[in-house]
Amino acid sequence: MNERSMPRTRLTGHNWLIEGAPQDKMPEVGTEALVAKRIIEQDIVLDGIPERNLATFVTTWMEPEAQEIVAENLHRNFIDHAEYPETAEIEQRCIRMLADLYNAPGETTGARTQGSSEAIMLGALSLKWKWRERRNAAGQPVDNPNLVFGGDVHVVWEKFCRYFDVEPRIVPLQPDKYTIGPEDVEPHIDENTIGVAAVLGTTFTGHADDVVGINDLLLGLKSDRGLDVPLHIDAASGGFVWPFLYPDSKWDFRLEQVRSINVSGHKFGLVYPGIGWLVFREKSDLAEDLVFYENYLGKTDATFTLNFSTGSSMVLAQYYNLIRFGRDGYSFVMNVMKENSEFLASRLEAAGPFQIVGEDEEQLPLVAFRIADDADVPYDEFDIAWQVSAERGWMLPAYTMPPKAEAVKMLRALVKLNLSRELVATLADDIIEACETLEKKGGASKHERKQVKTGVGY
Ligand SMILES: *Cc1c(COP(=O)(O)O)cnc(C)c1O
Repeated sequence: MNERSMPRTRLTGHNWLIEGAPQDKMPEVGTEALVAKRIIEQDIVLDGIPERNLATFVTTWMEPEAQEIVAENLHRNFIDHAEYPETAEIEQRCIRMLADLYNAPGETTGARTQGSSEAIMLGALSLKWKWRERRNAAGQPVDNPNLVFGGDVHVVWEKFCRYFDVEPRIVPLQPDKYTIGPEDVEPHIDENTIGVAAVLGTTFTGHADDVVGINDLLLGLKSDRGLDVPLHIDAASGGFVWPFLYPDSKWDFRLEQVRSINVSGHKFGLVYPGIGWLVFREKSDLAEDLVFYENYLGKTDATFTLNFSTGSSMVLAQYYNLIRFGRDGYSFVMNVMKENSEFLASRLEAAGPFQIVGEDEEQLPLVAFRIADDADVPYDEFDIAWQVSAERGWMLPAYTMPPKAEAVKMLRALVKLNLSRELVATLADDIIEACETLEKKGGASKHERKQVKTGVGY
């Protein structure tokens, strides 16, 4: 090396400008903090910008004060209840507030989870255990449990069935019917049914299953056939929407057969990813066998979780939101999103070749739309998704509906708190402009349709 030239590594500590990032082996020697940071920053430049992610139900904006709470508590392991009893108490406050929001009749119990997926695994395990208790008490076989739900559920329900050996009984959708009701569920229920799962705010169109109808059906089965089948509500998205937008609509513990509810704090609970909740109607709805007691952290502690160690930040951030917004604030926020969704829907319907799906029904703050049946255009929904991404970087998902509505292609835009009216207007213009471009150049209409279900399951 020329004596006067500075060694490249002295400039940066690592030749990251002219060498690739370490990928397969941990480097023998580390690098400077700034360089490690730069390598990561360079990589994720190619990720999408979360604010333009119209696909996700998950929070992409929190207040600076909430972010401070998150950042200041990253070093606090949530599971150390003995060491951090106040954090544990704050978890319990959140559970009590949610149980109250969902009209639990009395004292209840629940759990903080990593998201709705963990909450659903735990809730459904409790359904399985409780079913087994009932069957054992009646001296009947316990080798053939099944769970009934619609094709409009999130992928986690099939996951539960496979992981925990329960037969899934899935009610198919229809080309013009994207939620389920009692008439769909009834033929599938028998004495081996551990429960029925209904969705409040589906991933596909944001609507709710007919929870009141299903509850009535189950009450009828209880009185007529002595079958006590519990109802679990997957309110991953809807649990923070319905109480504020549709407070008179009954879907929660006001309905007798509803025994457990899950909700994602990181969706419309407005917290960054990593928090979900499971709430039981009564303490007795949690199978006692699933609770483990240990004292190796210094004090006898009960846990009902699939994970163990995790951060405290998101629990504290959830509590922050609950007390910061209150019912009044959540109502305001949900109404803002709803009004902006309606604005987007009306613009798309007026200026584009679109029909909006179920806009007059109770729905999450989103617009589910597709090319109108009578529109004669040389492109499809997948082409539109591609074109708006190319023109402006919006991530707008296109997908096919679950069986037997798979012939239907859909587009869906979540309208969350990070979309101001100005941005919503721009988004509408951008989608319409993308259609105009496609009108001229035509669509590719060749699309990867596999794994659609996991593709939309945020
Ligand atoms: C998002 C979602 C889930 C999974 O929730 P996570 O919090 O992402 O684990 C389950 N069910 C429905 C209806 C959802 O929208």
